[in-house]
Amino acid sequence: MRILLVEDDPMIGEAVSLALKDAAYAVDWVKNGLTALQVLADQEHEAVLLDLGLPGKDGLSVLEHLRQHGQTVPVLIITARDGLADRVQGLDLGADDYLIKPFEISELLARLRAVTRRQGGQAQACLSNGRLSLNPATHEAQFEDKSAVLTPREFALVYALLLRPGTILARAELEGRIYGWNEEVESNAIDFLIHSVRKKLAPAAIKNIRGAGWLVDRAS
Ligand code: CA
Repeated sequence: MRILLVEDDPMIGEAVSLALKDAAYAVDWVKNGLTALQVLADQEHEAVLLDLGLPGKDGLSVLEHLRQHGQTVPVLIITARDGLADRVQGLDLGADDYLIKPFEISELLARLRAVTRRQGGQAQACLSNGRLSLNPATHEAQFEDKSAVLTPREFALVYALLLRPGTILARAELEGRIYGWNEEVESNAIDFLIHSVRKKLAPAAIKNIRGAGWLVDRAS
């Protein structure tokens, strides 16, 4: 499994790349945002570890460029402890997960396994309620004439809703379907996901029932 590490700090880069190699990953390490885009344009990687403060092109711009060009490679962003705004923006731009510096290598490896496993997905027929449809093999969602590739968590959210169209799912129920055991869930994580799916498709794609939860229309 091939990983692209984008990190300009030599000590962090060295430590992470050694640890990944120890865990039997193939690691390509670049230290500049522009170089990262060049590498990703012509080489396949199973995942990208992306620092945000980078020379050449900052990490969020790298991520935005990738997603705008339809590249769905899983991206984990690496942020500072006080970087909440960056994490939110990164998730909205299509990052799959994030790590907060300083992080333990065991956590990095677990998150990497999780994003690549989700990316692998299992093939199933499309789910649809007539207006909104979802392809589990490609994570592509379509609402009326607009389509978008969803991140694994956005996908999990829409998947959960489309399994029971017309049924309101409460926040806790959605969290249970999107996050694994022992995962810390930020209190507004579901709101971020809903926001980002609506932004990609349309506000009407997911309805909110104030104080109760969210739903998609009953099949028509
Ligand atoms: Ca940096």
